[in-house]
Amino acid sequence: MRSKRYAFVNRRICVSCGACTRECPKSVIAIYKGCYAKVDTDNCIGCGKCSKVCPVGCIEIRDREVVNGQE
Ligand code: SF4
Ligand code: SF4
Repeated sequence: MRSKRYAFVNRRICVSCGACTRECPKSVIAIYKGCYAKVDTDNCIGCGKCSKVCPVGCIEIRDREVVNGQE
């Protein structure tokens, strides 16, 4: 079952420092083409560890949308 929350990255603010990638316990966040952090949202557990270490605050932990009881 997927977690209720996931990490969302604001790509325009990300500086590709990689701090989030080192912190993620599930290894589901990586620097995409050297440009910005990209999350495998299906496998993200929404723990927020990436968000805590981001120096520019561009990772937001969001609730997954629920439609008719389904994700
Ligand atoms: S919220 Fe947790 S599992 Fe998801 S990308 Fe961030 S550190 Fe990884
Ligand atoms: S810690 Fe923040 S700024 Fe650094 S790569 Fe991750 S999302 Fe981008």
